[in-house]
Amino acid sequence: MTRHRSLATLEHDLTRCRACPRLVEWREQVAIGKRAAFAEQTYWGRPVPGFGDPQARLLITGLAPGAHGANRTGRMFTGDRSGEWLYRALHQTGFANQPSSIERDDGLQVRDAWVTSVVHCAPPDNKPTPLERDTCRHWLHEELRLLANVEVIVALGGFGWDGLLQALAELGHATKPKPRFGHGAQARVGPFHVLGSYHPSQQNTFTGRLTESMLRAVFERARGLLGSA
Ligand code: SF4
Repeated sequence: MTRHRSLATLEHDLTRCRACPRLVEWREQVAIGKRAAFAEQTYWGRPVPGFGDPQARLLITGLAPGAHGANRTGRMFTGDRSGEWLYRALHQTGFANQPSSIERDDGLQVRDAWVTSVVHCAPPDNKPTPLERDTCRHWLHEELRLLANVEVIVALGGFGWDGLLQALAELGHATKPKPRFGHGAQARVGPFHVLGSYHPSQQNTFTGRLTESMLRAVFERARGLLGSA
């Protein structure tokens, strides 16, 4: 695994990664085919790097870029409904300067937080394979190493939770028994407080499984934990 000197060199290498043939083909196919509503736009169609404040004390891990969201705009959780929910919650809790996340140049700034995912390329049906998940995890290792101030990690969804715990275990922060995922789950893993939240996907938000107040409460808890490590 290459050790990167900075988040900038990490981003440089990550955005050129072609390690997963199925995901490379899919992300590029989607970028060519496009959704009708975005037919005039140029899709990113590459691995999506993490985004935020390099001094962040809060790290947020999602599943993977959305095909017509981050795979289109090139910024994590940007340009789809999941992102609308996430950044609204981050704005309400003081981690973002605005509630909306539409495109890369929309003025959004994330404060004291870094947003990433356990898989960096959009997968078909939002489902990476176990091999793709494992192949991509070294990028998360590097982010965790370079984001030296992280104290609290919010994992969005069970996939993000499992991928995060695996990455932390590989970095020497194993916990036994493995903490179970759930909305509001909380665990101490090595030096980090880890919080679980249902993923703000439409599958959860349309059905009412995840409400705005539930998501906001997770980030309020995260805010409360900062400085307590
Ligand atoms: Fe590379 Fe990760 Fe994309 Fe696979 S999913 S091609 S490892 S960036």
